[in-house]
Amino acid sequence: MGFWHTGYMDHHETTGLDDCRAVLMEPIVYPCKRCGENFQLPDDLRTHCFEKHPAQKPVLYVHGKELGNKPYRVTQHIAQSDIIVTNCDHVFFNDKEMTIDAICRELSRLSWDTCRIKLQKEDVVVEFALNFCIASPEDIRGIEEQFEEMVAKHRLDTCVIDEFIAATKKYKTAIGYCDGICAYLYGIMAKERMPGSLTDHPQYVGKYNKAVEQMAGYERPLAKVVSGLIGFHFNHFAETVCLVSNKTRAGQTAIRYQEWIQENMTESWSVHGSDASLMRTESLLVDRNTKKITHWMTQPLENLFGKEDKIESFLKDNLEQYDAVKVQMLLCKMYQMANNVNNGASRHAKSLRNQIGPIGKWAEAQIGKDFQFANGKV
Ligand SMILES: [Zn+2]
Repeated sequence: MGFWHTGYMDHHETTGLDDCRAVLMEPIVYPCKRCGENFQLPDDLRTHCFEKHPAQKPVLYVHGKELGNKPYRVTQHIAQSDIIVTNCDHVFFNDKEMTIDAICRELSRLSWDTCRIKLQKEDVVVEFALNFCIASPEDIRGIEEQFEEMVAKHRLDTCVIDEFIAATKKYKTAIGYCDGICAYLYGIMAKERMPGSLTDHPQYVGKYNKAVEQMAGYERPLAKVVSGLIGFHFNHFAETVCLVSNKTRAGQTAIRYQEWIQENMTESWSVHGSDASLMRTESLLVDRNTKKITHWMTQPLENLFGKEDKIESFLKDNLEQYDAVKVQMLLCKMYQMANNVNNGASRHAKSLRNQIGPIGKWAEAQIGKDFQFANGKV
C-alpha cells in the first residue's frame, strides 16, 4: 500500500532512495516518429531513417529523439554524440551560422537557458526551440530528501503536498521533478476519491499524464517507478517494461500481460528479478487497486482458484475502466483454466473485444476458447 494507507509501516522497512542510484538507466527505446519502429540506439534510428524515410527537409535529433514544432525540453546534458542533423546544408545557432561542432560546444555549456537552432537545405528552413532545464544533482537530491520527509508522515492530503512544495521551492533547477511528483499525488488523491481532493475523480487521468510528461526528463529511479506505475495503469505495458523491466511488481505484471496478449505459451514473468530498493519506492507510491491487481497477477493462476467471486466483486466496485480491463483479462484466464468457458472466460472476453489495439484482438481470440485448447492439448 502507498505511504498514506494505514498499516504501511507494519510491512515495510525504510532504506532510502539513494540506495538505488545509478540502477535502471536502461533500457531506453528510440522510436521512429514516422513508422513507430523502436530502436535500442540513436545510431540505429538514424540509419533506419536514412534508409527507410529519405527526408525532404532537414531533421534534428537530440538524445535520439526527432525534434518537432514544440519546444524541446532539455533535462540532460547534451554531448556531441547526442546531436544528429540530417539533410542539411547550413546550421544556425540563435541566427548565427556555425559548424555542427561549434553548435554542439555551445549546447554542452547550457543548463538553464533557451536557444534556437535553424537548419537549412536549399530554400527549406526549419527552426527548433530548445528549453534547457537541467537539474543540478544537489537539487535532485534535495527533492528526494523532502520526498522521504513527506512519506514519513504516512498521510496524504493537500496540506502534505503543500508542505512538500514549500520545502522544495529552493531546489529551483529540479522544479519539473517536484511538479511531476505532485501531479502524481494529486492524481492518486482523485483516483482514490480521497476527501479533500482538489480534483474530481475523472481528472486523475490528466494529472497522471502531466506527471509522466514532467518526469520524462529525469533519469531517476523514483521518476521511473512513478511513470512505470502510470503506464501500467493505462495498460501501456511495454512502456512500463521499458521503465522498470522486471524489477517491480508493476513491471513483472506488465510482462505477464504482454505475454498473454502475445499468446506466449511459456510464461517467463517471474518475481525473481525484484530490486529491493525499487520495490520499496513502488510500495510507497502504489494506489490501492494497482496493489491488488499486481498482488494477484504475481501468483500462478492455480493459487487464485476459489477467488473468482472476490475478484468479480472487486471488478464491480467502482473500478476505473483501465483497471477493469486488467481484471477482466485475469478473470478470463482464470476461467479458461477452470474450463468455465461460456459463462466465465467468454463473458469477459466479449466485453473486452471492443478495446482498441492488441487487447481487443486478444479478447476476440479468447471467445469460446478453453484452457486445454489454449495449451494446445486438444
Ligand atoms: Zn521509420
